[in-house]
Amino acid sequence: MASRSADLEVEGLVKRFGEVVALDGVSLDIASGELLTILGPSGSGKTTLLKVVAGFETPDAGAVKVDGIDITTMPPAKRDIGMVFQNYALFPHLTVARNVAFPLEMRNAPRAEIDKRVGEALNLVELKGFENRLPRQLSGGQQQRVALARAIVFNPRLLLLDEPFGALDRKLRETMQLEVRRLQRRLGLTTVFITHDQEEALVLSDRIAVMNRGAIQQVASTTEIYERPANDFVADFVGESNIFHGTVTETGSVTLESGRRLLITHSAPVGSRVGVLMRPERFGRGPNTFNGEIREAVYLGSSLKLRLACDDGLELIVRLPVTGPLPASGSRISTGIEPESIHVF
Ligand code: ATP
Repeated sequence: MASRSADLEVEGLVKRFGEVVALDGVSLDIASGELLTILGPSGSGKTTLLKVVAGFETPDAGAVKVDGIDITTMPPAKRDIGMVFQNYALFPHLTVARNVAFPLEMRNAPRAEIDKRVGEALNLVELKGFENRLPRQLSGGQQQRVALARAIVFNPRLLLLDEPFGALDRKLRETMQLEVRRLQRRLGLTTVFITHDQEEALVLSDRIAVMNRGAIQQVASTTEIYERPANDFVADFVGESNIFHGTVTETGSVTLESGRRLLITHSAPVGSRVGVLMRPERFGRGPNTFNGEIREAVYLGSSLKLRLACDDGLELIVRLPVTGPLPASGSRISTGIEPESIHVF
């Protein structure tokens, strides 16, 4: 299938439902062929954003542009956008082949072309041979693949996926995530994927847009979001974190509210108020040392997760490699972190 992938641009989108501001000035640029994930908690406005892009909601302000052309008021059916939702929404009385053919039939495509494209789409999602089954004769993962085939069969300019794997078990979800990624790369299809699951976002995305209360908090590559979050919300929402606040008291040193000093590499000006983020897995050795008592120890297979009450009053979550038996609550340990492993924001 030849790609007709487009750039997507949303500018200053505002959408209110009575008192609720679901979108509070959202702007995003998504490049042709890119997979961008919108990550945010329940109620942050993700679905509303997708509905505005698809044309199912009209924004109170702002614009949606595809390849630079304003489509804000274009009817959904004319937008050439493929969509997949959490609850598959397959037609239960139609076979797999008829479900996938549906968007082409709507567009009055010739029969021969429909057959060819349905075959190609089912091939892409590895469902050749399932043409004559009904949705209820398929597993959840297979149904979701049919929904995916139906979303791409008409060679859309954009693909929108709203929590498509929410109903699948963990293992199947992971398989489907990799499949979507493979398919999306192969087709070079501009894709917006919604999830509230940060791991899913990290696995899938070229870039992640973190959303909270109708506003984009940060848009960046997966590593940037994880390693250099822009604020407390992003640091806390993506991954486990130890977040503290303090003041830069001299170059290369932050004094936390608890009085504790930390060596940092960040060159924030002396006197500035900053947040510091220490990821649990970054502890081990380093000149910033922490001594304290283990309050809780959890064995996670590949690592140990400890809740540490430090002698200076700080509480830390620390992940360490498994080297022996699970340490007992109440036992004391010492750990450290390198200045370059501390992110300052
Ligand atoms: P979830 O992950 O739970 O689906 P979300 O991030 O997709 O959440 P939205 O569904 O976009 O969030 O909702 C954003 C806000 O707008 C919520 O407070 C929601 O209650 C409200 N909202 C959404 N649609 C409507 C509607 N049709 N009428 C009234 N309020 C709405």
